[in-house]
Amino acid sequence: MSSSKESYIIVGAGIFGVSTAYHLIQKYPNALITLVDRDAYDADTRVAASWDWNKVVRADYDDIVYCQLALEAQDVFKTDPLWKPYFHETGLIWTCRDDYAQNVIENYKRLGRKADIKAISIEEARKLFGGLFADADYTGVKEVLINPTGGWGAAGDSLRAITRKALDLGVKYEVAEVATLLLAKNGQCSGIKTTNGKVLKATHTIICAGAYTPTLLEFSAVNSGLPNIAAGYRLTAGGITTGMAKLNDELHAKYGSMPVAFQGYRPEQGPFIGSLPPTPGDREMKWWGQTIFKNTREVLPGHYVSSPPPKPDYAQWEVSRRLKDDIKHANKVFYGEKTANWELTKHRICWDAFTTSSDFIISPHSAAKGLYIATGGSFHGYKFFPVIGKYIIQMIEGKLSPQLTEKWAWDRHRPDPALFPDWPRYEMKDLIEPYKAL
Ligand SMILES: Cc1cc2nc3c(=O)[nH]c(=O)nc-3n(C[C@H](O)[C@H](O)[C@H](O)COP(=O)(O)OP(=O)(O)OC[C@H]3O[C@@H](n4cnc5c(N)ncnc54)[C@H](O)[C@@H]3O)c2cc1C
Repeated sequence: MSSSKESYIIVGAGIFGVSTAYHLIQKYPNALITLVDRDAYDADTRVAASWDWNKVVRADYDDIVYCQLALEAQDVFKTDPLWKPYFHETGLIWTCRDDYAQNVIENYKRLGRKADIKAISIEEARKLFGGLFADADYTGVKEVLINPTGGWGAAGDSLRAITRKALDLGVKYEVAEVATLLLAKNGQCSGIKTTNGKVLKATHTIICAGAYTPTLLEFSAVNSGLPNIAAGYRLTAGGITTGMAKLNDELHAKYGSMPVAFQGYRPEQGPFIGSLPPTPGDREMKWWGQTIFKNTREVLPGHYVSSPPPKPDYAQWEVSRRLKDDIKHANKVFYGEKTANWELTKHRICWDAFTTSSDFIISPHSAAKGLYIATGGSFHGYKFFPVIGKYIIQMIEGKLSPQLTEKWAWDRHRPDPALFPDWPRYEMKDLIEPYKAL
């Protein structure tokens, strides 16, 4: 049995933080590992992006690195008794307005995967799944990708279960808001200080604070007098709306066995939109919208960063009419007029950390020692939950492959976000009441 005398503080118990803790405690059963989060892991409601009714689990990436990583994660979801109860293999349908389908199919081939993945015509797509998508918006669609091996994960339930497993194995969990990192003038990081003044020290501090990461690093830069601690252009908090509709018996009979569905757009048209099947218990169908926004605010005098609203719950349940309309639009582009009168009963604004390329940051912080960053889910991080912690440990130990080291580095070339459809393009202040047509 290997052991480590090292100690680890992990700020943030979303999928990046919990996966790290879970893999660490298995590798080093005697290490002191503490997850610190402002919310209890079993709280009824949390701000984490990872805490949700469901998230898509798919390997349909045109980037072969994420395709391979997602397949690795999906294999765990499908076979490991710990993860299996949380994965629902419903299959997926994806309208493609460019070469996305062919690129994904090619990646599967290159990786030697035999899934029955194929591209079909619009006419064929209209007839599939009992005609559920017959009235979808097919404007500009080149072909439709079908992958029976995709599906969705019960996100909040899996997050709670894997956290509990990590705690059973010996990880500690501290409910506290981290105010700042403890940084010496030479950049040595020795832990964190919470908003109620408690100091926690460790040899390794790993920031997995999702959308709040740029704010926390800004605070820490000012407190330490080390301006290079700040994230700057590397990371931006972005929000997006989700909405749900509860299905009655008749509708559930029709939509209950539907696949996960995507409307894919070209970068200049905007982000892709998703429609998730009803949850088994509550029979709630979910959509996410197409409007992704920053919330640039003055977090300290003279310091402006995009940051979730400064309320303990990120004001995530305060959803404006403009953003609710975004979900109505999402509903319409999948199902046309036949679902237009459905009542959307639940709305939430979900915050994630974005990079300009959608590549994560899994890297030592170049301006500090003992400080590591693992975040930048960029709206696609959940599906990697079973395996991402393994790579975060490789990063901490300097064993990450050169390819991933470069792809996920803190300091790296940042492409123009114009090429990344999900990049937050709006400001939240322009989307709240009174209604402003954009
Ligand atoms: C609407 C929406 C839909 C998505 N759909 C999908 C999908 O279908 N499939 C997919 O794979 N991915 C999806 N994603 C992306 C995915 O959810 C995220 O990339 C991933 O969950 C991010 O995990 P995380 O651990 O980085 O952050 P989070 O899950 O946000 O966790 C960060 C944690 O840090 C804590 N924290 C922050 N600051 C502090 C502090 N100062 N002190 C203490 N605690 C702190 C927070 O409380 C939180 O628990 C979606 C995201 C959104 C927003």
